[in-house]
Amino acid sequence: MVDVAGNLRLVLGEIEKRAREPVTLVAVTKNHGVEAMRLAIDGGVKNIGENRIQEAAEKFAGLNREVTRHLIGHLQTNKAKQAVRLFDLIHSVDSEHVAAAIDKAAESVGKVQDVLIQVNLAKEDSKSGVYEENLQGIIEKIDALQNLRLCGLMLIAPNFPDVENCRPLFRRMNQIFRAIQSQRENFDFLSMGMTHDYKIAVEEGANVVRVGTAIFGERIY
Ligand SMILES: *Cc1c(COP(=O)(O)O)cnc(C)c1O
Repeated sequence: MVDVAGNLRLVLGEIEKRAREPVTLVAVTKNHGVEAMRLAIDGGVKNIGENRIQEAAEKFAGLNREVTRHLIGHLQTNKAKQAVRLFDLIHSVDSEHVAAAIDKAAESVGKVQDVLIQVNLAKEDSKSGVYEENLQGIIEKIDALQNLRLCGLMLIAPNFPDVENCRPLFRRMNQIFRAIQSQRENFDFLSMGMTHDYKIAVEEGANVVRVGTAIFGERIY
């Protein structure tokens, strides 16, 4: 059996050692059952991350716990309405098209949806996300939408064999984030760092980390 409460303490300790400001831990329960969600919440977790709408909907329906819900995976626009009903914060706005779909869905359910822009800083073909040079443009588009509130940026770093190679990307992302933050209201969240790289991400300024495996063990697909 995986010791979720023990793993949580370890991860929170590692964050604590490195953090220069409060860091929100998003416990990523994708591909684990609703029981994993309950164990995490009962162990003190306040934020849960899921990457697929259908899976999240089923688990949240049976959860019976209050928790802040984060969508961390790419959103197909035909699922935008479900997404705005299910999630408090959508980390994965990766195009103007997706932003517009979330705006429309949020309007239809009478909600202002908090979102982050996912940035593809390393320009990996395998990942979605906005290139650095297109950030200003998408920010202006989002600002023109009435039902979105832009709250920060999200990064998924490349899976380098030597995790230290993530550090310059995290550092650059932090610079970009702080520069935008200095000119805006409500731009509070820099979401970066997963199991293999969250320690470095926190050292480099992340204030939201998304950790699954280190808490719940390996996912079996
Ligand atoms: C799965 C996932 C995570 C968590 O990954 P772990 O390596 O299990 O910590 C974080 N962020 C995103 C976007 C993910 O899809």
